[in-house]
Amino acid sequence: MPTLERIVRKSERWFSTHQRELPWRKTYNPYHVWISEVMLQQTQMPVVLRFYDRFLDRFPSIAALARASHDDVTAAWSGLGYYRRARMLRDGAAVVQERFGGTLPHRVDELMTIPGIGRYTAGAIASIAHDRVAPIVDGNIERILTRLFGPRTNLWRRAEELVTLSRSPRIFNQALMEIGALLCRPQNPQCDRCPLRAECRAFTRGNTQLAPRKRAGSISIRRRLYVVRDRRGRILMRRDRRGLFVLVRRSPLAVGRKWLGRFRHTIMNQQISFDVFSANGQRRTANCSWIATKDLEKLPHPSFVRKALHLAGALLLTATALFAEARTYRIAPDAKNMVEFHAEDSYDAFDGRTNKATGAITADPSKPGASTVEVIIDMNSLDTANSLRNREMKELYLETKQHPTCSFKSTSVVAPESIASNSPADITVTGDFSLHGVTKRMTIPVRVVLIPDGRIHATSTFKVHMPDFGINVPNNILVTVNNDVPVRLDLWANAK
Ligand code: SF4
Repeated sequence: MPTLERIVRKSERWFSTHQRELPWRKTYNPYHVWISEVMLQQTQMPVVLRFYDRFLDRFPSIAALARASHDDVTAAWSGLGYYRRARMLRDGAAVVQERFGGTLPHRVDELMTIPGIGRYTAGAIASIAHDRVAPIVDGNIERILTRLFGPRTNLWRRAEELVTLSRSPRIFNQALMEIGALLCRPQNPQCDRCPLRAECRAFTRGNTQLAPRKRAGSISIRRRLYVVRDRRGRILMRRDRRGLFVLVRRSPLAVGRKWLGRFRHTIMNQQISFDVFSANGQRRTANCSWIATKDLEKLPHPSFVRKALHLAGALLLTATALFAEARTYRIAPDAKNMVEFHAEDSYDAFDGRTNKATGAITADPSKPGASTVEVIIDMNSLDTANSLRNREMKELYLETKQHPTCSFKSTSVVAPESIASNSPADITVTGDFSLHGVTKRMTIPVRVVLIPDGRIHATSTFKVHMPDFGINVPNNILVTVNNDVPVRLDLWANAK
């Protein structure tokens, strides 16, 4: 029997007697498998087992999950960490309800059009829930395949060759996952108990500490995408090997090329900056088809293609579809960022300014009302451009030695139902404003713009009544102080 087949048969046999009893293995209900796979990303099995039943009690079906609010799902997820997973699950459930009648599809390409489902999760659902031939490569399988076949192995191709030989993709894929979790561990693999010992290259070479090559740190690359249209306005698209429709990256026969814009997108450890061009073309190139714009929405695309089509105005997407993922944006000290306090008395006016603000904004364009914001301002760095004023302000009034920062932390947000990219949206944020050691709840207006390149721009002006915060600048016979200090925020934050 060839080696690959022996690996498959031995794994399947071993699994039938050594598999752990896990709740989703009782029925292989596709929804349950999906939940378990998402929970197991970044989270250890014992923790998942503590939360799994409780989550399903709260959301017993895809329909129930789709009906729930992000807040409810996040609350049920509390303790599992990586909360973006919870929000994506909820959005994914809504898409399954809408587009697939509440049933998770069988095909990997269809599964990958659901928010939060990538290549691994799609393969896991297709194989484990539906028993379809679909390869999966997670950290455990990557390690086993590297030890079995060597570090230069093409992991996805090898996983596909193996699962194609299996009697049951459900059993085989889980067998590899289980061998990876229980025997072929990163440190001290249990080779003496391993059913694959005789086929294992690392074992026969005495090199079982061999582990996958470390992933390189994040790399930045640039790519071009062309939105090429014919006379009828149709768009030239190519179907990739996952079955997804993608834009062409070169346009040798196109004319009238025009740069439309740029956006950033992250895939694994690649930070890709996409430049999007429009062009006109008449001839179809190899492996490409002309797609009518009315059909674009129905076809599966990777999200970066959807962003490019949106930039080209070819796809009138709702914000939900375009930037479905909730994101965290980091506010960091930057020359562009500005916090300004404007103070006046009857003689003079001055502005204390700083660009030392830090914090984070979490924003979900499809649910702006669930956004959060926290900004911390370094009060010691406030500068009025006058050293005497600076000293007076910091030592006498703000007492920055005792209270070096001022902060705003949101508690609720009132916003439109969704926010489209590049369109200013006015929202109202209520939160706790802390200044001079006193915290008050305030509601402030904020204008936000989502920039397609992965930034968010937030501006706000509101008034702070200084005595409310224990700051009392004495009036005297000559000088009347205006106690209402306008605060202006102009902040740019980058997606993490
Ligand atoms: S023999 Fe050892 S190194 Fe090879 S797959 Fe089994 S546990 Fe891993």
